[in-house]
Amino acid sequence: MKFNEIDFDTYHRNYPNEAGYFGKYGGAYLPDDLKKAMKEITDAYYTICKSSKFVGELRRIRREFQGRPTPISHCERLSNKYGNVQIYVKREDLNHSGAHKLNHCMGEALLAKYMGKKKIIAETGAGQHGVALATAAAYFGLECDIYMGAVDIKKQAPNVARMKILGARVVEVTEGLQTLKEAVDAAFAAYSKEYKDCIYCIGSALGPHPFPTMVRDFQSVVGIEAREQFLQMTGELPDNVVACVGGGSNSIGMFSAFLNDPVNIIGVEPLGRGTKLGDHAASLTYGNEGIMHGFNSIMLKDANGEPAPVYSVASGLDYPSSGPEHAFLKDIGRIKYDTVGDDEAIDAFFELSRLEGIIPAIESSHAVAYAIRLAKQMNKSSVLVCLSGRGDKDLDYVIEHYGTREKK
Ligand SMILES: *Cc1c(COP(=O)(O)O)cnc(C)c1O
Repeated sequence: MKFNEIDFDTYHRNYPNEAGYFGKYGGAYLPDDLKKAMKEITDAYYTICKSSKFVGELRRIRREFQGRPTPISHCERLSNKYGNVQIYVKREDLNHSGAHKLNHCMGEALLAKYMGKKKIIAETGAGQHGVALATAAAYFGLECDIYMGAVDIKKQAPNVARMKILGARVVEVTEGLQTLKEAVDAAFAAYSKEYKDCIYCIGSALGPHPFPTMVRDFQSVVGIEAREQFLQMTGELPDNVVACVGGGSNSIGMFSAFLNDPVNIIGVEPLGRGTKLGDHAASLTYGNEGIMHGFNSIMLKDANGEPAPVYSVASGLDYPSSGPEHAFLKDIGRIKYDTVGDDEAIDAFFELSRLEGIIPAIESSHAVAYAIRLAKQMNKSSVLVCLSGRGDKDLDYVIEHYGTREKK
């Protein structure tokens, strides 16, 4: 199937289907005990989250607590430097806690509250999802258990401290390589024991159904706001919409508002140090169909068919797969996926900081780098970039590895 055979007017009604499939991607591949728990979340999602009471309360929280709507900024100096292409950024760095992740964490935690759960559980790798979820838990007065590999706990001390200050319990996972994969397994194991009192909150638009859909819907506020703001600001739609893709939540939230528009949509994957397996995390670009962590998508596999080790300078992007809707939109040709490596992303990090006074997250810098690439190639055009987060969390790393690049 190709995208010109799909009616995007009715797309969100038909995708995913009832079993959570976008074409052949998605689904829920789970042991029996977790199937029951996931069915409960699915039923709750389609009733509670669609109720006007829930929608109204989430809207109020977005306004009064998160600081939404976040603005769009026209990057005038950056645009002028490269010529005739106008670059705009959607400022998710100004969303409370400094990134888009709180958009779905507040939704998931509000659902937990409506379901009468006392606790929310999740895993975290670099700690960003853990911090956003701990923020939501504190707001709603929920207990919060964050599973984290022992190696990651050592590496991510500031985020571990943040989670603890926010009142979350950080559970150290000491199995295997003691990183994200083991943390996912431990969190799922805990969830299958405790699901009566808690819900699992996934950190991106992936995992078993209904999470890819639920996280997309909670993140769609980004695209809905941005489309309206861009129209208001310029009187037109953008020619290009760009976002970085890790698991795929900020991007699908941004993209979903533009699927039915005559707009080029580009997802930017991290090429890390290069194209060799293990040196990047560009799963949609270099991966194959496969099942992991409860869903079918496109993933990077090692020789044994297991999730491959991945790398990117942006820790929020180094996951060996992306959400099933991305795999589907890539297959049908509606969205183009391309890659940006570490060095190009770091250059963009400094460009946006110097020329616009905005220090972006290294993840978001991948999308900014792609906009700069477009600006160098195109003549007259506009690019709307999802600036998924701020770079404060990355400063120590950048200074240590790249310096401050001051002009002498
Ligand atoms: C986690 C993170 C990402 C990547 O996650 P997605 O689910 O792909 O959006 C991107 N940017 C920032 C700032 C993040 O913290």
